Amino acid sequence: MKKNINIIIMGPQGSGKGTQARFLAEKYDLQIFETGSILREIAKQDTKTGQKINEIINIKGDIVPWDFMKENILRQKIDQLDKDRGIIFDGTPRILEEAEFWNKKLPSVDRKIDYIFYIDVSKEESMRRISSRKLCKKNAHPLIVGKDLSEEESKCPICGSDVYRREDDAPEKVLNRLQWNEKNMKPVIEYYKQKKMIIRINGERPIEEIKKEILGYIK
Ligand SMILES: [Zn+2]
Repeated sequence: MKKNINIIIMGPQGSGKGTQARFLAEKYDLQIFETGSILREIAKQDTKTGQKINEIINIKGDIVPWDFMKENILRQKIDQLDKDRGIIFDGTPRILEEAEFWNKKLPSVDRKIDYIFYIDVSKEESMRRISSRKLCKKNAHPLIVGKDLSEEESKCPICGSDVYRREDDAPEKVLNRLQWNEKNMKPVIEYYKQKKMIIRINGERPIEEIKKEILGYIK
């Protein structure tokens, strides 16, 4: 069922927002706008911007400065998208300046945000979910400890290759990211609350229940 709607889906890491975004994208034929994967794609390109992004995100492990992001990534990317299809913004905006930017920019490309969902998950639950993630070496199959394999198992149940935990998912790194997010998300949430646009979804429930609740809001 194609729908030309634009949705923002926010939430901390481990909230399952990516899963919900992919589900909605498929259901309504929406284009996924996820800055993390956009940046990783650009970082592979042999261009000036590509090299700079690669240095920031892959070599230094830093966050791309907002002004650079706005001028060199977001403006171009939004213009490249299919005008006849809606967008789902996955984990975007991450800071207040970005929320304000989209508020001005989207009308200039004949779009407006129709729904904003905030999938709320406590810091403890986020930590628990992220630290239970592992990947296999050969095919990067995403695996959940306690569901797909036990803590002691060291082979992928799908392909049999070795499994490991991403360096980024080490507890102290996760805590850092969650704290950065929390600090920056608060003003974004406030901003949309004042515009009466945000819909809070309790994310500490089964995926199917969350899907159903979200679909109930979309007309
Ligand atoms: Zn595997």
